[in-house]
Amino acid sequence: MPIPTELVGSLPRPMKLQEAYQSYDDGAIDFAQLEAEQDKAAEDSIKRLEQTGETYVTDGEQRESSFATYPITDTLAGTGLADNLAGDGQFFAIFDDGHHRQLPRLTGGPFRYKRFASEFVEKNKVIAVKPVKQAVIAPSMLMLLYPLEGELDGYSREQFLDDLCDEVEKDIRQAFAAGAERVSIDFTEGRLANKNDARNPWTNKDMLQEFIDLNNRVIDRFSAEERRNIGIHTCPGGDCDSVHSKEVPYEKLLSKMFQLNAGYFLIQCASEEDRESVYELCGRYSREDANGVAQVCFMGVINPLSPEVETPEQVKEQLVAAAKHIPVERLGATDDCGFSPFSRDVKPKHGSPDFARDIAMQKIANRVEGARLASEELGV
Ligand SMILES: [Zn+2]
Repeated sequence: MPIPTELVGSLPRPMKLQEAYQSYDDGAIDFAQLEAEQDKAAEDSIKRLEQTGETYVTDGEQRESSFATYPITDTLAGTGLADNLAGDGQFFAIFDDGHHRQLPRLTGGPFRYKRFASEFVEKNKVIAVKPVKQAVIAPSMLMLLYPLEGELDGYSREQFLDDLCDEVEKDIRQAFAAGAERVSIDFTEGRLANKNDARNPWTNKDMLQEFIDLNNRVIDRFSAEERRNIGIHTCPGGDCDSVHSKEVPYEKLLSKMFQLNAGYFLIQCASEEDRESVYELCGRYSREDANGVAQVCFMGVINPLSPEVETPEQVKEQLVAAAKHIPVERLGATDDCGFSPFSRDVKPKHGSPDFARDIAMQKIANRVEGARLASEELGV
């Protein structure tokens, strides 16, 4: 079988859509008007992705405030925040360029999603000719909604985690039921968990194993056949063309991440200085049999934070090098991250989000072609 390809999920939102988000926050337009702009951008994403030759298509998360907050708020500014939440939660991440992103804070129970990703899948299925994928958020990210220390009155941490796991399971099941063929779980907090950043207390608590165990609580509710199409995405962040945890030694994460009983992994790699060691670690730790499913390593061969377009030849070379360490039947190709995980992102290194959308399409097309060339060279 040729080397499979898959994108992570997000694409830059057109400037016009980002302005609509602002107008909605300002109360100048209503949700229906915002939705009309989202739908337009989503349709454009799908149509253009289909032209790149990508296997699965997404709407590029045009309808989502972010990859992490779509279930609980309409916008990053907190318009349409779900019940029992306040705006002033923990830092989700502090990025290398100095900007940060903040999560809401849970104020009481019960915790419920106000929106499930299946809503996007249903809309996308109407537009798409090709199979549809959907990215969802991991429970390990949303567990940070609960205060880091202490317990909430009348809603224990344990009750919250039970509710959270149920909501994430429902999110995944409903996405499949709505017609998604692949569902990948965003796990950017995995590498960040070992950052030990004094400004961001949760990164000092060695929470990686807790994250993995919590995520497996959900993943293990699915059959091996279902888990074949459930993925995990890891990266050192990718927002406003900046990262949050690239200096954290990758082995800390990669030596544990494959404990997750998922069928495939979308793994940042192209932007690593020492790619060879990443291939080697993935080859060493990924499992042939994760409770009935072989773990496929989709290696990042495209850097979405750089406007420089990788050539198909460069992509091919990376995959051929990866195949020296990872069995080719368990090797795939992806991008290092989504191209814009947060809705408000002007893509500063690119000059504009509209230009960054054009660049993203070229990069995806070259990844697809590079994977084809590598498959040819490797005889698969
Ligand atoms: Zn990412």
